[in-house]
Amino acid sequence: MEYKDYYAVLGVKRDVSAEEIKRAYRRLAREHHPDLHPEAGKAKAAEKFREINEAYQVLSDAEKRAKYDRVGPEWEGGAQAPRERAAEPQGFAGFSDFFEELFGESGRRGFGVSDAYAAGPAMGEDIEAELPLSLEDAFAGGEKRLSIDVPRICPACGGSGRAGKGFCRACAGVGESRGQRSVTVRLPKYVAEGTKLRLRGQGSSGAGGREPGDLFLRVRLHPHPAFKVSGSDLETALDVPPSVAALGGEAVVSALDGPIRIRIPAATRAGRPFRIPGKGLSKGGAARGDLYAVLRIDIPERLSARARALYEQLREAGS
Ligand SMILES: [Zn+2]
Repeated sequence: MEYKDYYAVLGVKRDVSAEEIKRAYRRLAREHHPDLHPEAGKAKAAEKFREINEAYQVLSDAEKRAKYDRVGPEWEGGAQAPRERAAEPQGFAGFSDFFEELFGESGRRGFGVSDAYAAGPAMGEDIEAELPLSLEDAFAGGEKRLSIDVPRICPACGGSGRAGKGFCRACAGVGESRGQRSVTVRLPKYVAEGTKLRLRGQGSSGAGGREPGDLFLRVRLHPHPAFKVSGSDLETALDVPPSVAALGGEAVVSALDGPIRIRIPAATRAGRPFRIPGKGLSKGGAARGDLYAVLRIDIPERLSARARALYEQLREAGS
């Protein structure tokens, strides 16, 4: 009889916590739910799904897990022929001979979702979602109403993951599904990439009217055509005509806060960064990162006759 490595099936190490096992199961169950696969791949997904469920059935149950751990891969089972079994229930059910040998009929009782899982956490769970923002919105801050992609309690089973004696087909026994949700967020100004915003009580409501968890939004900034983001610092290009680069003068940086005048010293070469302190994104609190304006030398597309004559003189002078 073939030994089943349930830890490998769930892709976890042997010493992981019950919480990690649950997480791994949920992720895999979502991925391999047969209903999410096209007809051609359904049978394969169903087989994988059955394996995942069997592994979870064992590893999510402290008693079964302990027994399974004691047995180990060297176990020599199956001396006797597999026992006669009742007809396999249809759908996601069905256990390997290994499982039957180890846990027998009693192991199958309550098949579906382990009691520990079905009972759920005392509180609804925290949810993490991405909050995509334009740099302009990040700068402006303020109240914003957004539609975000969040997991939510499965409407078909109310989060239990069960349907009769088996899994809820809508959510693969996971108890949640993905959906769009509208939330109102109060954004701090100049919010930086990766900032986590916590919306209390807007997480998963948990089955059975439990206290909801929190919703964590992680800021992700859209790429911007004019500004490069590096942590709390920003970088932008500053175009100046050759005469300003050579002789020095003033230039105007188009910052997100508005135009900023800076002095360009004589003989400034292309690529030199000018640091404008405090015009970047938030470093947390009121402190802000810096804006770097990187000098580019810009030639007008059309030269006037006078400019052309002057450039020709420059060329003759050898500069
Ligand atoms: Zn469901």
